[in-house]
Amino acid sequence: MAAILLDGKALAATIRAELAAQVAARRASGLPLPGLATVLVGDNDASARYVAGKIRACEQVGIVSFHRHLPAATSQKELLDLIARLNSDPAIHGILVQLPLPPQIDENTVIRSVLSAKDVDGFHPENLGLLAAGHPRFVSCTPLGVQTLLRRNGIEISGKHAVVLGRSNIVGKPMAMMLLAKNATVTLCHSQTRDLGALTRQADVVVAAVGRRNILTADMVKPGAVIIDVGMNRREDGKLAGDVDFDGVREVAGWITPVPGGVGPMTRAMLLANTLEAAERAAK
Ligand code: NAP
Repeated sequence: MAAILLDGKALAATIRAELAAQVAARRASGLPLPGLATVLVGDNDASARYVAGKIRACEQVGIVSFHRHLPAATSQKELLDLIARLNSDPAIHGILVQLPLPPQIDENTVIRSVLSAKDVDGFHPENLGLLAAGHPRFVSCTPLGVQTLLRRNGIEISGKHAVVLGRSNIVGKPMAMMLLAKNATVTLCHSQTRDLGALTRQADVVVAAVGRRNILTADMVKPGAVIIDVGMNRREDGKLAGDVDFDGVREVAGWITPVPGGVGPMTRAMLLANTLEAAERAAK
């Protein structure tokens, strides 16, 4: 029997409607509207599309967006100066600096320069540390989106074996920490992991976040497992594909996310949720 589809697109629309109602309630009670600053450096087409999508999503729910587009030749100091101004602007509750940045700018320095209380991407080491310590504040939007997709579909994590493929600071590591916090037994895999299939075949939940097509195939999946595909890869025909061999794996798995329409829309919805959360924290 084919797996049940975990429809991130539909759930993200529901969450946006819920957030819009919360933003409207803030407005009605005289509180300032949440504000998100997006910063784009250079002319990377994909980055420009992502940022445009985030700005549109803000508008849909009533979050005010402040967009800053800097030229590709911007120096690190110029970018840090801009971030310092955004950090001290009370109308801005969240700051998102779109990655990747041009080579003259050190990404880690930029990530650390965003005030951790406005770090709605959850990339700042302080926020990663809080998550690791079991007291999360802002959590990276993609793993937060995955967790929300699991929770709102009634998928219980406690006691399950979760295998995460990929250990980046923005997806794999925070995902593993979140699953651990929900009492899963977690295996975190990376490029040096030997015999991925031997591990994934034991998994009740697999989260694939590698960026390589077909890294997870049907023979690597336990029947009935929950398969979350974070990967975003371009096929030869230009269409989007995940890391999972969707057609094969859906015949074995119990639940599966499609690409597109699975994790991606949830990631964008979580950015809005984190921005509203930042505004609420600022008001306290
Ligand atoms: P990344 O920083 O490139 O990390 C990829 C990870 O995959 C690394 O930890 C790497 O291991 C690991 N890896 C490489 N080959 C592997 C293998 N054979 N077996 C197991 N692990 C392997 O990528 P990322 O930023 O985490 O993103 C991962 C994917 O998710 C990309 O396709 C990205 O586009 C997508 N993504 C999607 C969303 C969304 O909203 N849907 C959001 C963010 C990212 P090492 O650490 O050993 O190198």
